[in-house]
Amino acid sequence: MDCIFCKIVRNEIPSVKVYEDDRVFAFLDINPLNDGHLLVIPKAHAENIHEITEADFVAVASATHKLAAAVKKALNPEGINLMQLNGKAANQVVPHLHVHIVPRWSGDGLTICKWELTAGDMERVTAIGEQIQQAME
Ligand code: AMP
Ligand code: ZN
Repeated sequence: MDCIFCKIVRNEIPSVKVYEDDRVFAFLDINPLNDGHLLVIPKAHAENIHEITEADFVAVASATHKLAAAVKKALNPEGINLMQLNGKAANQVVPHLHVHIVPRWSGDGLTICKWELTAGDMERVTAIGEQIQQAME
């Protein structure tokens, strides 16, 4: 499948991985809205909520639950947004289903669900990925 997230799952494109099981893969967003912005995806390609199997969606939800706890433990945000966009009208850009986990701090100024992409500092993204990975143990 010629899909950027499928290539990440197959390790053909590098990523800062924080979690993997037989159905799910999770990694740091390279254009983070805040420190610790993660993406949780099914390993099997599905474009959106209408295509994914229930079993894969349950597996994504279960991993999201674990990862939210790890983010809380690692970064202690004041809040967390979970976002999952379906279709261009909903501002979905990458056509492989993904749940965003976005740590929030009051006054961070984010406007959720529509934003300009800003390249992250990959050293920082990598270090935060290691922190979250350790918090998963
Ligand atoms: P959306 O489809 O709008 O829900 O968001 C797609 C997200 O994927 C954006 O937040 C991008 O920054 C992120 N993204 C795109 N390519 C990569 C990549 N190679 N590694 C990590 N995150 C990515
Ligand atoms: Zn894909």
